Amino acid sequence: MAEPDFDLFVIGGGSGGVRAARMAAQLGARVALVEAAALGGTCVNVGCIPKKLYSYAAGYGDAFQEAAGFGWDVAPPRLDWDRLKANRAREIGRLNGVYLQLLAGAGVEVIRGWAQLIDPHTVRVRLVDQSRDFSARNILVATGGTPSVPDFPGREHVVTSDHMFDLDPFPQRLVVVGGGYIACEFASIFHGLGARVTQLYRGEQILRGFDLEIRHFLSQEMRKSGVDLRLHTDVATVARARTGLQVTLTDGEVLDADTVLYATGRVPNVNGLGLAAAGIAHRRDGAIEVDAQYRTSARSIYAVGDVTARVQLTPVALAEAMAVVDHLFGAAQRSMSYDCIPTAVFTHPNVGTVGVTEAQARKDYQHVAVYRSDFRALRHTLSGSEERTLMKLVVDSASDRVVGLHMVGPDAGEIVQGFAVAMKGGATKAMFDQTIGIHPTVAEEFVTMRQAVAD
Ligand code: FAD
Ligand code: NDP
Repeated sequence: MAEPDFDLFVIGGGSGGVRAARMAAQLGARVALVEAAALGGTCVNVGCIPKKLYSYAAGYGDAFQEAAGFGWDVAPPRLDWDRLKANRAREIGRLNGVYLQLLAGAGVEVIRGWAQLIDPHTVRVRLVDQSRDFSARNILVATGGTPSVPDFPGREHVVTSDHMFDLDPFPQRLVVVGGGYIACEFASIFHGLGARVTQLYRGEQILRGFDLEIRHFLSQEMRKSGVDLRLHTDVATVARARTGLQVTLTDGEVLDADTVLYATGRVPNVNGLGLAAAGIAHRRDGAIEVDAQYRTSARSIYAVGDVTARVQLTPVALAEAMAVVDHLFGAAQRSMSYDCIPTAVFTHPNVGTVGVTEAQARKDYQHVAVYRSDFRALRHTLSGSEERTLMKLVVDSASDRVVGLHMVGPDAGEIVQGFAVAMKGGATKAMFDQTIGIHPTVAEEFVTMRQAVAD
């Protein structure tokens, strides 16, 4: 081909796209990145970051209540929702600017517009008032995902997580549909902010895929805290009424709500992207198929992150992006391992987990030992809260390796991140036992569990 405009053309300025563009440019490649909306993508604008900021805000609700037991007299607190929204928007705006600076500083040409693949080396970008074609030796698709809402009567009245950060007014009565990460997190967060929350999940227990005990324990804790969590429950219709929305369940019960959040999964963002024109194979749900190097069926085009619908987490998109850049412009040494990816659900209390569930371990290994601790954290001896913590280790008895580590409790995400390093390194239960605890912490429980409860 004639000398193309760019060595790498990145479509999508979210977690994966920004990381790939920046690293490739730092390695000397001529790189462009096109973004149709705000830089930073889902994580920065309507995902991890604003969600965590609101989770902190919700945490103050508990803290005010618990303060009395520690001797503080606090006047009845009141949430200024508009102030929280404005402060969040200011911080997100700052981050959008930081991303632009990082890209510009690395020499990436940032293009604002909607991109469409024309062929394996050409991207057409719809700019504000015109379209322009760019040629590239390689293209990286990092267009992420978008919320998916099933079809049902009244679908037009419900919102998705994208809308939750700027609701106006604050939803005093919130119905959340779904039992995954987003449903559980938003149910917890809005409950903590003062909404009356009803969460409806169609299945047997929330957080399918997580360790069964963790799922049961979290749903108990969420209920104890005041979330009206209903299992085996489906929505028939949603209708607008004089006083808000009316959610009719399949058993005929009617719930009143100000807002109905559907958190029923996300689908790859490939609408109008031109996958067929470029010869890119994809699954029925649109997820782009890639090989071990993230190369699509069009050999000059790569794809990473949520658009490939493997593990939809920001650190995974970042790691995949770095593997692609290393493959194209670096030493081609970097590979991404999907083993032992730690993850947290920012409910109140948090869930943190790494490795396999007890059920999976029983399939994978002949003998499994399980260590469990279910206790009231020191903080709650004075706080008045009934919240309990569950910590659990799953050990392959033959090798003594800790193959699963799970927790529901305060700061579970922070705690599990550290243990994930040990697990990645193949730590054994004996090594956990030899590790001195930090006292008094919740985390020390992971290194002081001595008695297996099941094997
Ligand atoms: P994205 O970040 O979605 O970026 C894709 C970008 O591509 C977008 O900016 C989009 O505008 C742009 N784009 C799409 N199509 C085009 C086009 N044709 N032309 C130009 N631009 C285009 N993960 C965690 O690890 N921890 C969390 O706590 C967490 N919380 C979350 C909370 C919520 C509510 C949600 C929705 C997600 C959360 N995630 C979390 C998941 C995380 O946000 C995603 O896994 C991550 O953002 C994926 O990055 P990506 O680069 O694949 O896509
Ligand atoms: P999930 O796939 O986690 O959960 C979707 C939920 O919706 C499931 O409970 C599913 O039920 C339910 N559901 C699906 N279809 C329907 C339907 N037609 N009617 C009723 N319920 C339905 O998706 P989320 O939207 O919660 O999140 C998307 C992804 O974003 C997550 O998987 C995660 O990777 C990422 N994320 C990560 C976070 C973090 O790291 N803390 C936070 C938020 C998101 P069932 O289980 O029965 O299929």
